[in-house]
Amino acid sequence: MATKNIDWANIGFGYMKTDYRYVSNYKDGKWDDGVITADDKVVLSECAGVLQYAQTCFEGLKAYRTEDGKVVCFRPDLNAERMVNSAKRLEMPVFPEDRFVKAVEEVVKANIDWVPPYGTGATLYIRPYMFGSNPVIGVKPADEYQFRIFVTPVGPYFKGGAKPIVIKVSDFDRAAPHGTGHVKAGLNYAMSLHAIVTAHEEGFAENIYLDPATRTKIEETGGANLIFVDREGNLTIQKSDSILPSITRRSLHIVAEKYLGAKVTEREVLLSEVEDGAFVECGLCGTAAVISPVGKINDHGKEICFESGMEEMGPVTKKLYDTLTGIQMGRIEGPEGWVHVIE
Ligand SMILES: *Cc1c(COP(=O)(O)O)cnc(C)c1O
Repeated sequence: MATKNIDWANIGFGYMKTDYRYVSNYKDGKWDDGVITADDKVVLSECAGVLQYAQTCFEGLKAYRTEDGKVVCFRPDLNAERMVNSAKRLEMPVFPEDRFVKAVEEVVKANIDWVPPYGTGATLYIRPYMFGSNPVIGVKPADEYQFRIFVTPVGPYFKGGAKPIVIKVSDFDRAAPHGTGHVKAGLNYAMSLHAIVTAHEEGFAENIYLDPATRTKIEETGGANLIFVDREGNLTIQKSDSILPSITRRSLHIVAEKYLGAKVTEREVLLSEVEDGAFVECGLCGTAAVISPVGKINDHGKEICFESGMEEMGPVTKKLYDTLTGIQMGRIEGPEGWVHVIE
């Protein structure tokens, strides 16, 4: 066994077929034992529930090689718990949380040679997902499901340091009040594709969605929550029932308080206060990039420029980023239970 011969520092964020994946099937009201298999193909009925009515949800986490050579992942119990909530909201059977964490361990161990070496900036992305697999034509939940996990190595999100991005206030809405914005459903992404393609065509990196009811409050981007830093170095994190509860954001909340000694407030954030200069730094947070610094928000031609500027991450964002990635990579001692050792 040896680490694969790959130019780790230069791979992108894309799919690369690895050796093994985990598969468990749900039938007659129960999950089977689950297997590790080399077969990367899914064979489905043409009428499968997922194909007709998008009954599917997913998760995303990473395995890291730490400084002392261990392979670890970060708070997988929270991904397991979130997938339970997604499944319930989509009328899918729950995949037990302890089995989820064990399946993550198994599939990473099976693909251990695909875990990028420490120091390359690359990581092993882990994608658990579940979908309705039997034929469904009248609108109802499927009776049979498949839960799978594949892994794929991904390169450093930022090559040569994180450059601040420019994002736009979108005219499209992401999630309705009492809708599915708080669960990791594929359907939330399908409907965001037109908005992101449009934003990219206009030269923006991402969309900021507002609350659809009043269009005054900031929600999140297509795949990341927002954090704001004020002049005192304190953190404001937006709060809404229709945003996805990001594990990165929830972890940064604790990092800011425990490691930076900052004050953290979770509350509704108005677009108007951001425009009025209440904050000097802004970042997008999620598993893929940890934090992407935002330099500017464009609201229909009106620019909101953060004082941290367009050259580099703001100082508080940088400290948050360095501390959280330090914990993940084993350079800094994390809170109890955050770093889950796989091997
Ligand atoms: C996955 C996701 C995030 C980030 O969540 P993490 O747990 O930090 O990876 C944020 N917003 C949306 C809409 C997401 O789907």
